[in-house]
Amino acid sequence: MDKKVDFMPENTERFMGKDAQRNNILAAKLVSEVVKTTLGPRGMDKMLVSPTNDIIVTNDGVTILSEMQIEHPAAKMMVEIAKTQEKEVGDGTTTAVMIAGKLLENAEKLLDKKIHPTVIVKGYRMAQEKAQEILKEISLKIVPSNTEVLKEIAMTAMTGKGAEDEKEFFSGMLVDAVKAAGVTRNSDINDIKIEKVVGEGIRNTELIKGIMIDKDRISIDMPKKVTNAKILLIDFPLEVKSPEIDTKISISSHDELQNFLDEEEKSIKGMVQKILATGANVLFCQKGVDDFARYLLSKSGVYTCRRVAKSDMDRISKATLTKIVSNINEIISVTLGASEVVEEIKESGENMTYISGCKNSKAATILVHGGTIHVVDEVERALLDGLGDIASALETELVVPGGGAIEMEVSKRLKEYSQKLSGRERLAVEEYADALEFIPTTLAENAGMDPIDVLTELRSKHDSGNMSAGLNLFTNKVENMISSKIIEPAKIKVQAINSATDVAAMILRIDDIILSKSSKKGKMNDLGSLPGYMESLS
Ligand code: ADP
Ligand code: MG
Repeated sequence: MDKKVDFMPENTERFMGKDAQRNNILAAKLVSEVVKTTLGPRGMDKMLVSPTNDIIVTNDGVTILSEMQIEHPAAKMMVEIAKTQEKEVGDGTTTAVMIAGKLLENAEKLLDKKIHPTVIVKGYRMAQEKAQEILKEISLKIVPSNTEVLKEIAMTAMTGKGAEDEKEFFSGMLVDAVKAAGVTRNSDINDIKIEKVVGEGIRNTELIKGIMIDKDRISIDMPKKVTNAKILLIDFPLEVKSPEIDTKISISSHDELQNFLDEEEKSIKGMVQKILATGANVLFCQKGVDDFARYLLSKSGVYTCRRVAKSDMDRISKATLTKIVSNINEIISVTLGASEVVEEIKESGENMTYISGCKNSKAATILVHGGTIHVVDEVERALLDGLGDIASALETELVVPGGGAIEMEVSKRLKEYSQKLSGRERLAVEEYADALEFIPTTLAENAGMDPIDVLTELRSKHDSGNMSAGLNLFTNKVENMISSKIIEPAKIKVQAINSATDVAAMILRIDDIILSKSSKKGKMNDLGSLPGYMESLS
């Protein structure tokens, strides 16, 4: 029930106390319900259709939630967890959102028992801290040079994704890319570029040592291939931008026109001469290059690309060891970039520029092929998950068993820990432990197995000391995940537990929602545009 109070302007809506909590918890639960069916290798995909009828088919948690245009404030906070998870680890987004949703659902049970939210939050924080301790204890150390382990990690990440059928092939490629680019941390994965072309099958996806950009040379009179490339990068345009051209030039005679054109040519010519004086035979320009400049550059045999993306400019700069120059007068003092070859090649009918044998060889591009744009997009997301996982594993050198094993073990130990507590926090810790079991039960449910049976078997295995017992969804059996090679970076779980607890705590502390005039009335009911979810909130 919303209570309007006098001191607030008209049209202000207010939810207080229980109403506020229940409304927020319901929204959070619904968000977690949305992504739940996509969890794990047997998870289903979602088809998202944007207002402009663009279609995305994916089972990637963060993609689904970002595309849903959710308006409900608490639901939005849930979406933020997915985004943080994606940014920090690059994988585990569904897991994080699901744990948060379950923590809130279980908190509701405690609220029903008249336990105060601050007590629940305190218990959850204790459980979170303990869970991190447990994770530390049971994570396994890997040797970063062991490429087999890295491949297994990538395969677990890609199981059930668009790249599933070829995950062996893709995992090998990802490990090679990581080695080639010298990736050691999650933040390094931007050094590996994923380029996409529609055409041929996904099996034609290739790893390219060096850089591939989706630009062609701007004139066919320029050389198609430059060996021993001396590369100049500029981020200013090679065109004369006199404002008069757009507005009005008062030219009354032929001579005046000629003068004007001469001036313009002179200025372009001057710039091109300065470029040529550096000895560069390849030019990448982030902005436009006009016809006259193009003519002069091709006459001098300079391979030129224009309107190159900033991210590509940065990568070329890093790989060929040169700076991006912003001022024509500074180019003479710049050390040119170096690579063995710059050439234009055709990939599935598209002309691209390939820079290979870079001075700093740490650059790699994965060129994804696939039959349709939807296929290449989903393969790209799967590859990013795999890359994120390899990088996360390399960062801390710690892994945990997948298939719900780690969640079961942490849950079991949290329950043991709760036994030593007294007071109402104990109940909260127990609910926290219970929430983690949501991961293995959902993995089972999504594979059409009976979640209770699986949970019972998992519990008994863990109780008898088999801490790596998880559900193998290749065999549909409870097995030792380490022997089954289903492993994940520990960082995924560390981050998922932290961000899930943070958001649950934050939502639980809210006991008053004030919707101002400008926030649309519908917001509290608006969970985005997937049918069926909105009704359940009203
Ligand atoms: P998230 O967005 O959380 O990464 P995913 O859909 O990628 O969600 O599913 C990840 C879960 O799937 C993890 O718990 C992982 O251990 C599990 N998983 C991956 N491969 C297997 C497998 N072969 N058998 C059982 N579980 C698996
Ligand atoms: Mg995943």
